[in-house]
This record gives sequence, structure tokens and C-alpha cells, in this order.
Amino acid sequence: MKFNPVIEHLKTYEPGKPIELVVREFGIEPDQIVKLASNENPHGCSPKAAEAVRKSAHLMFRYPDDTMMALKSKLSERFGIDEKELIVGAGSDQIIEFACHAKLYGGAKILQSEITFAMYQIYAAQCGATVIKAPGVAHDLEAMYELYQKEEPEIIFVCAPNNPTGDCLDRVDIENFIEKIDHDTLVVVDGAYQEYAAYKDPRKALDPAALIEKFPHVLYLGTFSKAYGLGGMRIGYGIARQEIVRSLYKLRPPFNVTTLSLVAAEEALEDEAFVQMTLRDCFEQMERYRDFARKHDIEVIESYTNFITFLLRDIDSTRLAEALLRRGIIVRDLKGYGLNAIRITIGKSEENSRFFETTEEILNNGVK
Ligand SMILES: *Cc1c(COP(=O)(O)O)cnc(C)c1O
Repeated sequence: MKFNPVIEHLKTYEPGKPIELVVREFGIEPDQIVKLASNENPHGCSPKAAEAVRKSAHLMFRYPDDTMMALKSKLSERFGIDEKELIVGAGSDQIIEFACHAKLYGGAKILQSEITFAMYQIYAAQCGATVIKAPGVAHDLEAMYELYQKEEPEIIFVCAPNNPTGDCLDRVDIENFIEKIDHDTLVVVDGAYQEYAAYKDPRKALDPAALIEKFPHVLYLGTFSKAYGLGGMRIGYGIARQEIVRSLYKLRPPFNVTTLSLVAAEEALEDEAFVQMTLRDCFEQMERYRDFARKHDIEVIESYTNFITFLLRDIDSTRLAEALLRRGIIVRDLKGYGLNAIRITIGKSEENSRFFETTEEILNNGVK
């Protein structure tokens, strides 16, 4: 069978290994497995959100409220924007997809940093676009600007903080960069980990309302999958001027977000105490990872997220990740991104202890 030639060359996204797979492949009991691979919230989600979902279960037979009014009104109040400047998606992933379809056609290009969220290039490639990468482990805005001038991409992706490295540009640097970009180029600012960055360092905090007020060509992305702990509900949002939102809306399938996801997000937004606990605990636990790395002479990237990246020297990241996996600990190998590094999601205290003990044992005995 012949397919669209564009899809013949597509790579599929490799998500963090699910617990079920490790159970099957290694025969490890599910409660013995520690998953630190997908940047999920180790504390789960707000108990209020979970309760609201249980109470709404009887609504499953109905199609969702496609206006998403209740959630939009809460989000618009939270950010100080108009509801028409908002679009809600099945994860912010889906908004990336809409943005690619809205801007990319015949010979189009996107520009991104070399090591960043894989979905940008996957959706861009689906649209037949060329992916231009600015070299460097961190976003190099000067290199990106040079490539912007040379290549004239339709979309530029800025991930702040960046996944899978954890580092984050300062707000002023992002704004000075966007200032220089012409208004026909869409600048997608991905704030999937903004809650963490803003908590750790106010210089990293982005204000989506101020961003779109200043810049007519910015699309800001947020998600409920990380700090709010709703990865399994698939819900995220985009914030942009109405002109952009109107175009993205044309690509949105009706009922793209489920009733229960909407309910969960609405309640999660109200439970600020849960998010604060999440953020406090994340950075407290991250200190233990920094201590561990120091003790073992491993370099870390300063992280503004809920994960930390170990840059390895003498150890091969793939072999270390596999050795951990055989012992029931799932982390992310970054070899595929061209880095000899592993990315570890900060877990609960006892999960992190398991990681330290197990990694220490592997390092002491040599990676086998
Ligand atoms: C997790 C993540 C997202 C979006 O996740 P969804 O679950 O689709 O909302 C977007 N960007 C980055 C950088 C992420 O890490």
C-alpha cells in the first residue's frame, strides 16, 4: 500500500517505558517498580480533583461541554486574559499539533534548539516541514537568531524550562529575542514546567498575559500534566492573541477534551496548596540528587523543572539506564538526543532513596 511519502520517514515518539512493560519484560512486581521517566507528579493529583472526577463519573455518557466555559473562565481569571485568547487541548501536545498544521505547508521550516522536546519536530515532520536545529545543549538564542535570519522558519519553538535538560532561559532574554522576530513567524513558548521555574527563580517566570500583550506572534503553552499531576487526563492549553486562537480553533476536532478531564482541571486549578506542596517537595528532594551527583563526581544541569539530568562521563547512559531498568527503576536515557546522560524525574522521598541505593550499587560493581 502506498502512503503519504511524508509519513514513510516519520520517527515515532518514544515515551518513558510504562510500568506494565517492565512487569512483563522483567517479571518485577508492579509495587516494586519506581517510575522516574515521564516527569509525572509523584504525589499524584489534587485529592479534590480526584474526588470531583469520581462525582462526575455518571456524566460519561454525554458529550463534553464543547465550549469548555467553566475551565476557560477559571483560566482566563488566573492569567488575566480574555477567554477568546485561550484554546484547550488534549494535552498541550495537541496545541503543538494545531500550531504546526496552522503554519506549516509546502517547504515550510521550524527552528528549535538541538536538544529539546521531541514533539515539535515530530508534528512538524508530519506536515512535511524541515527542522532547523540551533546547536548546543542549552537554547543558544544568538545561534537561533542567526538561523532565523538565514532560514526564515514559519515557527520558532522556545522551551522554557527546557525538556529534557531542565535548564531555563531568563524572561528578559526570551522577550529580547522575540522582539527581533517578525510578526509573521509564530513563536511558540512552551511553559510546561513554568510552575517549577517560577517557584525556584522569579527571573525565569513568564507572564503569558504580558507576553501576548507585547507580542502578536506568540503562542504560550501550559499543561496540567506536570505540576498539577493530570498527565493521564490529557489536558493542556494555549494562550495567544485572538487572531492566532481563531486559526487554531479551525483545526480543533469537536469534543477534543473529555468531560472528566475538564472537571479534573477545573478542580486542580483551585487547589493551590497541592501545587505548592508539590513544588516545595520537588526542590527539597532535588537537593538529594545534587548531593548524590557531587559524591559520585557526576555533572548535573541546573534544573528548573521536576527532573534532573545527569551528564555522565565514564559510564554509558544506555547501559546505566538498562541496568536500572532490570532492577525496576525506570529513568530516561538521553542517548537518542545525542547526550550521554540520563534524565531522572524527581520522585517521592522513598523512590529517590531506591534510585540512590540502586545506582550506587551499580556504580560500585561496574555497569553490567
Ligand atoms: C510534558 C510536556 C508537554 C506537554 O505535555 P501534555 O501532557 O501533552 O500536556 C509539552 N512540552 C513539554 C516540554 C513537556 O515536557
